Amino acid sequence: MGIRVEEEVREGVGYETKKVPQKYTVRRYFGPCLICERETQYSASRVSDEWLAKQFKRRRILLSILRGTAPSHTSPSVAYIETIVCAGCREESRKLRTAAVQQRAAEERQKEKEEKEWKRKVEESWRARVHHYEWRDVTAAEIDPTPHGTEFRAALPNSEVHQILFRWRATPGKCRGDSYLMKVGMWVDGKLTAHYHGWDLQDIDVLEDENHRLYGSEEKWPTMDLFGGGFCRWIECAFQPRLLTVEPDLVWEPGSYKELDTQIRRPGTLRVDWLDGSRYVHVLPSLNLPEVAEWAEQHLGLRIEERAFRPVRRAPAGDATDDQ
Ligand SMILES: [Zn+2]
Repeated sequence: MGIRVEEEVREGVGYETKKVPQKYTVRRYFGPCLICERETQYSASRVSDEWLAKQFKRRRILLSILRGTAPSHTSPSVAYIETIVCAGCREESRKLRTAAVQQRAAEERQKEKEEKEWKRKVEESWRARVHHYEWRDVTAAEIDPTPHGTEFRAALPNSEVHQILFRWRATPGKCRGDSYLMKVGMWVDGKLTAHYHGWDLQDIDVLEDENHRLYGSEEKWPTMDLFGGGFCRWIECAFQPRLLTVEPDLVWEPGSYKELDTQIRRPGTLRVDWLDGSRYVHVLPSLNLPEVAEWAEQHLGLRIEERAFRPVRRAPAGDATDDQ
């Protein structure tokens, strides 16, 4: 791998000699093509073996520049490298370069598209989150009054089992996101046991994005469901003897002025010791059924099981087979 020099003596008019023909030497350099290594005439005007060896030593980076795969602004320039590349290889690498440019442009477009799509999703998710946590007032016209229902079973270790039915429907009033104020009825073994208003408020899973701050005090928004409160009331009414055997979280004696620390976990128990010696246990409610269920099983051995979710529909007029 070396340089071959062809010299040709020409005769012509030079600047200095002013119209007086003079002989001068034209040198043509031949050497291996940087790509295919076939001997080719260099278009560089002056090359040395040392310089050429240096180019072959960094051949990889030079080839990546020629083929357009090097990071942009990598030196030397394509024109500089092409001085030692044969015509065929030049053409070939030019095509590769064009293809690489097109490919990069396509990737850029794809990336832009994906970024736009991500931004759209984040925006959508943000709107969903704002909607989800925002309270508003709804009128009767805005709500779907279709009743819903679900059944539970509560079982004690002594194989005592209670059938529990909840029915609820949306009513006008305060509404958070799509969580309408619900009028709830709770039947235990066919008997109406509790009747109250409540919301099903759960957290929403949304995409996080650093551009958006957390929505207010979102972390502190309460979660609640329609059933926890009803179960707490029923447990207080139906299981007094059992509740009295449980170590209470708080005890209150009427007449004593001891302050009650009510910062306790819910559900919890408050036992009132009356002067006549009778005792009553209040269940300080939690409005989250999973918490209530865990507590009831731990403290009372009462197992709460979800039986089935089924939409309860209004019976067609004249149909007497409605449940309850
Ligand atoms: Zn070549």
